[in-house]
Amino acid sequence: MTDVVALAAELLTIDSSTGAESAAVDFVSKWLVARGWNVTLQEVSRGRANVWAFRSGGGVTLSTHLDTVPPYIAPKLEGNKLYGRGACDAKGIAAAMMVAAERLANAGEQRVDLLFVVGEEKGSDGARAANRLASTSRFLVNGEPTESKLASGAKGSLRVTVRTTGRAAHSAYPHLGNFFESCWIVNGESFGAHKNSR
Ligand SMILES: [Zn+2]
Repeated sequence: MTDVVALAAELLTIDSSTGAESAAVDFVSKWLVARGWNVTLQEVSRGRANVWAFRSGGGVTLSTHLDTVPPYIAPKLEGNKLYGRGACDAKGIAAAMMVAAERLANAGEQRVDLLFVVGEEKGSDGARAANRLASTSRFLVNGEPTESKLASGAKGSLRVTVRTTGRAAHSAYPHLGNFFESCWIVNGESFGAHKNSR
């Protein structure tokens, strides 16, 4: 039986900063293929892929992400605590999901899928691509640090594109810029961009 801490530590030895996740994707997909999972690598962008593994479908998908924010921090085990980039968010979770799914499969439960996405820490392009995968599960459990409490909702996000004209400047040097005031309205509230016309 796979030791979940050892598996998490192995995942943590792989640098998978957002945009360069391929070594972690390789490791996870090979681990799953070796244990009889049907594995699909879904290309998200050139050289980057989500890992989707399934058996019979029709049950639950356990999902989290394989990328981490840079810089890479190598793992170390101190007492019963595992440290390193992604230990909490979210490679420890990925390892727990892999081991749990494997135990379920070994016990005869085939209705479990695994979905590991790339790009979560920057724009979520992996999650958006995963929306195009055929849905085979009735439920999805998304793994993110929530202090070991079940969260049944998410705050979601709203992205807007604002176009304005003028000369761009870094936010540390706004006086070097020159642009007209922009204004947009979200949920009835208006927001004005920094005004600095010269
Ligand atoms: Zn996360």
